[in-house]
Amino acid sequence: MPHFQSDPLDERHDGAKISLPSSKIAFSTDSFVINPLFFPGGDIGKLAICGVVNDLAMCGALPTYLSVAFIIEEGLPIETLGKIVSSMAATARENHVQIVTGDTKVVEKGKGDGLYISVAGIGQIVSKSDVGPKSINPGDVIIVNGDIGRHGISVLAFREGMDFETSIESDCASLLEQVKCLLENNIEVHCMRDLTRGGLAAALGELSQQSGFNFEISEELIPISEPVKSACEIMGFDPVNVACEGRFVCFVPEKDSSKALEIMSTFSSTGFNPAKIGKVDSQTQKLVKIANKIGTQRIMEIPYGELLPRIC
Ligand code: MG
Repeated sequence: MPHFQSDPLDERHDGAKISLPSSKIAFSTDSFVINPLFFPGGDIGKLAICGVVNDLAMCGALPTYLSVAFIIEEGLPIETLGKIVSSMAATARENHVQIVTGDTKVVEKGKGDGLYISVAGIGQIVSKSDVGPKSINPGDVIIVNGDIGRHGISVLAFREGMDFETSIESDCASLLEQVKCLLENNIEVHCMRDLTRGGLAAALGELSQQSGFNFEISEELIPISEPVKSACEIMGFDPVNVACEGRFVCFVPEKDSSKALEIMSTFSSTGFNPAKIGKVDSQTQKLVKIANKIGTQRIMEIPYGELLPRIC
């Protein structure tokens, strides 16, 4: 309560009474079970707020209200909870979103794993046209906003106590400002999807299925840092399957693609600029084809099963 201040919450009633900014809203929910609770580049609290903010942003919406629920295992130090909750409050403030309702449950020792957090949020849709898989058109350029795979590799390496020469930090971040900037500059955004569980391969595979079109991707255009590349080689992962928490793919018509890249570049903080990685094809087998340097094509599959458990 002291961390999450908002008028609806301060009323301490059974539910938050809120006014919706418009009748066009997006509504999303997600649960977070990441282990460990603190990792290089973030913590479960920042991850939880950014996760829902990003899902709303992907719908072309500005988040307005959030609900949060905590399932706490008996014995979790109150100091640890305090740190996480204050990180959530700070992330919510940065994203101009209010936490208006919530719940806390405690389960017996051994019946939980430290802390699980569920967040739901609603946001005002501000995009002029419909942003979603059904708006993807043949000829659309596919842009990724930065280097992929850092979140998954960072959490795994930290959890397993693996030491790589350069430490890899999670990409955990809000995508709201860059999405806002794209929309405010009248970029005709057809679709966006954040690269969370299953990484780039899952996002593209699902969108190809949902849009009904093939995608053609060039492997060498996908930005991947050297440390992530070598960590993936050592651990036997394909970087396209590794989760990110601050990366998304954006589908725009060719005419807007350079301007979109330029806008997204102003948000890159890692030295890896956004990149055009491929195009939407008019063929309708719903396949994602990825070509390597010498032009050999293979099919990029949606990763099935849990490649990296407890990553988000
Ligand atoms: Mg998402």
